[in-house]
Amino acid sequence: MFNGSILIGASERSGGEPFYAVHPATGAKGDVAFSNASPADVADAAALADAAFESFSTLSPDARASFLEAVADQIVAIGDLLIETAMAESGLPRPRLEGERGRTVGQLRLFASYVRQGDWLDATIDKALPDRAPLPRSDLRRVNQSLGPVAVFGASNFPLAFSVAGGDTASAFAAGSPVVVKGHPAHPGTGELVARAIAAAVKASGLHEGVFSYLPGTTNDLGGALVSDARIKAVGFTGSRGGGIALMKIAAGREEPIPVYSEMSSINPVVLLPAALAARAEAMGAAFVGSLTMGSGQFCTNPGLVIALDGPDLDTFVASAAAAMSGAAPQVMLTPGIHAAYEKGVAAIAGAEGVTTVARGTEPEGVNRGQAAFFSTDSANFFANPQLADEVFGSSSVLIRCSSIEEVVKTIADLEGQLTATLQMADGDEADAAALLPTLARKVGRILTNGWPTGVEVTHAMVHGGPFPSTSDGRTTSVGTLAMMRFLRPVCYQDVPDALLPPALQAANPWGLTRRMEGKLEASA
Ligand code: NAP
Repeated sequence: MFNGSILIGASERSGGEPFYAVHPATGAKGDVAFSNASPADVADAAALADAAFESFSTLSPDARASFLEAVADQIVAIGDLLIETAMAESGLPRPRLEGERGRTVGQLRLFASYVRQGDWLDATIDKALPDRAPLPRSDLRRVNQSLGPVAVFGASNFPLAFSVAGGDTASAFAAGSPVVVKGHPAHPGTGELVARAIAAAVKASGLHEGVFSYLPGTTNDLGGALVSDARIKAVGFTGSRGGGIALMKIAAGREEPIPVYSEMSSINPVVLLPAALAARAEAMGAAFVGSLTMGSGQFCTNPGLVIALDGPDLDTFVASAAAAMSGAAPQVMLTPGIHAAYEKGVAAIAGAEGVTTVARGTEPEGVNRGQAAFFSTDSANFFANPQLADEVFGSSSVLIRCSSIEEVVKTIADLEGQLTATLQMADGDEADAAALLPTLARKVGRILTNGWPTGVEVTHAMVHGGPFPSTSDGRTTSVGTLAMMRFLRPVCYQDVPDALLPPALQAANPWGLTRRMEGKLEASA
């Protein structure tokens, strides 16, 4: 169960101005009073995380992996209460949340298997050359180690997979970082249930209690205090552009600046190439609306921009999309605030000069329902109205009609950084696709052909990142095993006696790692 507590290591506290969950499907207020964590709670959680750092960051890969698996098991053990609570707090339907729970525990287990493999340690050994002339070379050994305690800010739109035990927490644990989570106020009961599951796994695994703390709250000051705490060494965030940038500024202004990995805003352009339009405009129109309206469009990979050459095939696409959208039932949005922001964003686009409203979804009945929207304009007008390129979080998309493939390339080139770009292509589109790909690769973290951007697999090769403002650091990803590299840094040991080296670098290779010896990968004997 949950009771609104703040969880600092193994202890529970309450305090601060209470807040309540809002059930977006009805607008009703939940009946549990949640505590608002204070600056003193932040300081205590950070101090415990710092105290836990040494023992947690030096665990063997096997022990760390077992802990990740224990977290997954504890989340499964919550049972249906987790799904029921998340349904009430997010308005998301049961199948979606059951799938999301599967993804969350699957992600923890994937990290466990990757951690066991050990190649993320990047153990690299250049042995001493005592006889080298004119000077001998020292023994040099390098290994990755955790940056230190990590602050995690969960997102509202994935109450499980991007929240308390989501990708940021899983990857930070995998890297050996204790985690302090700032709970998202949109799903406080869900957050606390998962936080209790993590705390139970910490205890069952015999780890230092400071490996995990959970700070529920509703104020920017709480998040600001967490990012400002000198013991926090990195931040993982998913949410709004404003929130992500605010945290980046706080982190950069610290006496010791720290990295903030923010995943923020993206409109995910979809390019419809001419042969694809000629071959399947109607089918693409319906499939596009399916992707746009899934989950009320509340995905960071939602296709908020469509770019294509003007002409009768594009008209067929638009007619098909409009027909599909007019039958799209409004779905509950995550919070009254997100619903209000969606309505405001859609109204701003509808009222912008040179923009035509192509279609709207069915008129909503009930509170906090998002009514899908599809707009059309041309490239010159798109760039004359910068607000048209802003993310409208929800089922809203803008079509840009272009007059040539060069204009399509230029339109892409002028966009801000994005998480994804999609090419719909068919036989005959290869030359246009080849002309677009170099520009797309500079702009985005993931390029798809003949699919839709919503749906992000958790794998080793996935990149869920991209140039600013889609994220604060386009060199990395927040989904997939590569995400743990965000929380690691290399340390080199020069002429350090074998017994004092980390196990990954010792001569006997006690963890059985594949290591890079004199530049060549070498499996353990
Ligand atoms: P959010 O408002 O950015 O909040 C995310 C978390 O960050 C919350 O815990 C919030 O806590 C904290 N936070 C936000 N601004 C802060 C600040 N200035 N200082 C300290 N902490 C701050 O995101 P959201 O509630 O999940 O969704 C709101 C909007 O974010 C959506 O309308 C959408 O535009 C965008 N969004 C984007 C994505 C994406 O993947 N690109 C995903 C979800 C949402 P407090 O509010 O309690 O301070």
